[in-house]
Amino acid sequence: MNERQRFAQLLRVCSKNLLLDQGLQVHTAILKMGYAFDMMINNDLIDMYGKCGRCEIARKVFDKMLQRNVVSWTSLMCGYLNLNDAKSSLLLLCKMGRSVVKPNEFTFSTNFKACGFVGVVENGMQIHGWCCKTGFEWFPVVGNSMIDMYSKCGNVDAAAQVFDKMPERSLISWNAMIAGYAVRHTGNKSLVLFKEMQTQGKVPDEFTYTSTLKACAGIGELSAGRQLHGFMISTGFRLSQQTIVSGSLIDLYAKCGCLFEAQKVFDLVERKSVISWTTLVVGYAQDGNLSKAMESYTALRKSNIPVDGFVLSSVMAVFADFALLEQGKQMHAYMKKVPFGLDVSVSNSVMDMYLKCGLIEDSRKVFNEMPKRNVISWTVMITGYGKHGLGKEAVNIFEHMLSENLDPDEVTYLAVLSSCSHSGLVDECKKYFSRLRNDPTIKPNVEHYACMVDLLGRSGRLKEARDLIENMPVKANSGIWQTLLSACKVHGDFEMGREVGEILLKMDDVSVVNYVMISSIYANAGFWNESERVRKSVKAKGLKKVGGQSWVEIDKTIHFFYNGDERHPLTPRIHEKLKEVEKRLKEEVCYAYEVRFSLHDVEEESREESLRVHSEKLAIGLVLVHDEGSEKDERRLIRVFKNLRVCGDCHEFIKGLSKISKKVFLVRDANRFHKFENGECSCGDYW
Ligand SMILES: [Zn+2]
Ligand SMILES: [Zn+2]
Repeated sequence: MNERQRFAQLLRVCSKNLLLDQGLQVHTAILKMGYAFDMMINNDLIDMYGKCGRCEIARKVFDKMLQRNVVSWTSLMCGYLNLNDAKSSLLLLCKMGRSVVKPNEFTFSTNFKACGFVGVVENGMQIHGWCCKTGFEWFPVVGNSMIDMYSKCGNVDAAAQVFDKMPERSLISWNAMIAGYAVRHTGNKSLVLFKEMQTQGKVPDEFTYTSTLKACAGIGELSAGRQLHGFMISTGFRLSQQTIVSGSLIDLYAKCGCLFEAQKVFDLVERKSVISWTTLVVGYAQDGNLSKAMESYTALRKSNIPVDGFVLSSVMAVFADFALLEQGKQMHAYMKKVPFGLDVSVSNSVMDMYLKCGLIEDSRKVFNEMPKRNVISWTVMITGYGKHGLGKEAVNIFEHMLSENLDPDEVTYLAVLSSCSHSGLVDECKKYFSRLRNDPTIKPNVEHYACMVDLLGRSGRLKEARDLIENMPVKANSGIWQTLLSACKVHGDFEMGREVGEILLKMDDVSVVNYVMISSIYANAGFWNESERVRKSVKAKGLKKVGGQSWVEIDKTIHFFYNGDERHPLTPRIHEKLKEVEKRLKEEVCYAYEVRFSLHDVEEESREESLRVHSEKLAIGLVLVHDEGSEKDERRLIRVFKNLRVCGDCHEFIKGLSKISKKVFLVRDANRFHKFENGECSCGDYW
């Protein structure tokens, strides 16, 4: 081996093992020994620098070369791609096209990857054309990367055309096509291909399994996923050592609500990934099993596996939804100590947690202290103010955002519009709605229109609201009609209410909430028989409502209550306490059970007894029992959370209670926060 070959070999070792410092030393020696213009050695230098992530040096070497071949060009392109700089690779390909050097199959394959990265299908199609002209179309490596490119650019049909025309398909080709179908809503086709490849005698590998499982999860194909699981076991595939495949299986089971199976697979895996752990925590939480979710999270913390920002913000979202303030605070303290704790997405999740727990000041503090904010940060803050009925503050934040030249997206618009409509800020709402309509980058959707309908509905302009729905350029959904129906009910417009109700039932005759609203419109107008008929049809159709559930945190423990729940050990005292309060309310603030109000909620029964055991009342009852006889500060804030909207009766009850007890109640329902203080609610009785 001569000196020149030795240098080349040294560079290849450095490249393979990413030894940048040694590579730099070899480079110096090469220059000293007079090989500065040796093409082979320069190509190896470009490759080494590219692999070590130092493309700027690779580029310098490339630019100084007197003569270049296809390897020189392609190595530099690979280097750029290695740094996720797909654009530079594509620019280099353009330049290459004007040079005398012709691309080969690796040049094309590299740049198809670059196109997939950029996601612009037109670039890929141009290169595809070039491939056909030069005869490289039929090289397997080119075909495979074309399938990948078309799938990543969202044109899965074009990918399938390439796949179908391929004269020879390797396992990589099959994997690319199965993965292509799995990311779109075409998961069924992934499953078909999976079967087909087996009939052709191809043995699936871990990439095949991962994509096929992902396809199953995407379309909720639990049974196919189970079959695949069985297939892997029967073919001796070592699932316990395949972190990524088992992760997809855990994800599939968790998404389909089979937490038992998800846990079983998880327990089997030898090297558990933090992603699978997160899947499990979030899966349990979404299944309503908070204690299991917390158990898994604690185990993750104890495992010493490093967590990242994605995990923390996913778990924080669980804390936010369940309003677990103590856990949220602890995690916030932990986040301050880790390097990625300042990530924008992590801070956004902290803000959101404080907002959903009702601590708007703490949320604002996080917002103010963020070193960097993105559109989501602003949107979370605006949404938060809106849900607390603080429309003016929401508007201020929105204006502040505009003054910093940030472009609101459609979610930001929705946040500001609903904040304005919830707080009855008519002028602002109209202003921002017309701003949205004039924004060339965003098309208003039905939810934006629903905010305007809500606004008009509040001020009793029902005809205008209805005209808006009927003439808007987007298709109405049941949500927007429900908004109008609510307004009809509040303003006692029976005729329009009945018409809207009929439209609504034509669109959606399975949501119990629609029947309940229509029934209550009839009841309010005195049509009791009609009202009963609608209510009975719910039962006849076998429709099930979502059960009401409320919870409250006392001394770091969460207490859950369903409607009529008697599982709590203090149930007799809670009932006693509630009756006592009710008596005082009747005497002191003329509170009466307003049976008609109960229809506001999705409650089936309307009798006095069942109103008394609404979940939010039970939760409040527990707080009262707990505070009894203690020297607690009477003015303290009590936070109660509910999964549905609070009903009219409970609303009146808590209003009265806030007056006679001098306590402040903050109730988060499905739509917003209600702050009850001294006999009044922050929602102004419209919700
Ligand atoms: Zn209620
Ligand atoms: Zn309220």
